[in-house]
Amino acid sequence: MKKIWTLLVGLLLHGAVFAQTSDSLIVIKAGRMFDSEKGTFLENQTIIVKGNIIQSVGTNLKYPAQAKIIDLSKATVLPGFIDCHTHITSQPDNYMEDLFRKSPIDYAVEAHIFAKKTLEAGFTTCRDVGAPELIDVALKRSINAGHIAGPRLFVSGPIIGATGGHADISGFSPYLSFKAISGVADGIDEIRKQVRYNIKYGADLIKFTATAGVLSEEESVGAPQYSQEEMNALVAEAAMWDKKVAAHAHGTTGIKMAIRAGVASIEHGSFLDEEAIELMKQKGTYLVADIYNDDYILSEFAKLGYPEKLIEKERTVGKTQRESFQKAAKAGVKIAYGTDAGVYPHGNNGKQFFYMVKFGLSPAQAIQAATINAADLIGVKAKLGSITQGKWADIVAVEGNPEQDITVLEKKIKFVMKEGKVYLQK
Ligand SMILES: [Zn+2]
Repeated sequence: MKKIWTLLVGLLLHGAVFAQTSDSLIVIKAGRMFDSEKGTFLENQTIIVKGNIIQSVGTNLKYPAQAKIIDLSKATVLPGFIDCHTHITSQPDNYMEDLFRKSPIDYAVEAHIFAKKTLEAGFTTCRDVGAPELIDVALKRSINAGHIAGPRLFVSGPIIGATGGHADISGFSPYLSFKAISGVADGIDEIRKQVRYNIKYGADLIKFTATAGVLSEEESVGAPQYSQEEMNALVAEAAMWDKKVAAHAHGTTGIKMAIRAGVASIEHGSFLDEEAIELMKQKGTYLVADIYNDDYILSEFAKLGYPEKLIEKERTVGKTQRESFQKAAKAGVKIAYGTDAGVYPHGNNGKQFFYMVKFGLSPAQAIQAATINAADLIGVKAKLGSITQGKWADIVAVEGNPEQDITVLEKKIKFVMKEGKVYLQK
């Protein structure tokens, strides 16, 4: 009882519209509904939600008179969106301030704000791929306990990477040191130990940097940062603990090494050649390409005090990344939605739909990337990714028709339900 009371108070404090007991029924009248498994839109569907589960879906369903009706007959109803590449515990403010004046405690204090914004943008689940000081684990626990409104999180903990690589802080005097729970690990033994450490303290997946990055000061944006043996050991160790691996990878060589090592997804995937695309198809590797944020970085990051060197790297990578995405989409590589939220301000996760359609996906395919494909990549397809009997009731609705105008998914969110609880209703 105390638990239910705490949950209710928590929800009221955080702006939930209502909560219901596990036995109450909610009937959603959907004017148009996206079937993410088939990639089609259905007319006039009824969705019956019992507790946190979708009890049934179809036309002309019978339900008890006391059920609560939510009328979305003029809207398009979709499964809750899933962003497979977020950094939900922070967002850029000022390069030097962020590095030298803030501590992880600042980020821990603010993270709940970003979580709420993300949820209200229709993203009911995120795969969070790198946060300082295990803040992601703490945030996940608090959301799961019902204390904070936010998306369901699958988190990586600290990003694993080589000394001087994208997961390290480089470019400064060797006399400067940053105290942190670090993911820096070199050589097979250290890498295996770091994988175990991350899992011990709550990681749901492992994220590592297969190549150099954009928003870090090390040289040569696409160069590999682990040997093939190191990547193989990392993926094997994670598999032993039943965890999937996401590889940050821009350059062609590092991308191929990570695919061969058996990662579940290539993050960014900026320089794909035909062999890389073929390898991804053979191995069933997902591409998670953040093709919206290039615009944000190029227009805003100079104002935030980011070094010109980093912005120049983005110029090198951004355009090619979109071309690579287009080639991969055309070739039929599996694509999951991931935006690198936290590079741009949280709550704008939906802006990438437009770019995915612009660079080769149909509107239905772009929505599949953010629903059923994303659920498959995370390994939760049995519970998420479609509005199907028996799955968790994660349901969003938008005004308008995303098949005609994909940007309604970023601009016109009017309803968000996560596991049967309504968090937004306009
Ligand atoms: Zn990232």
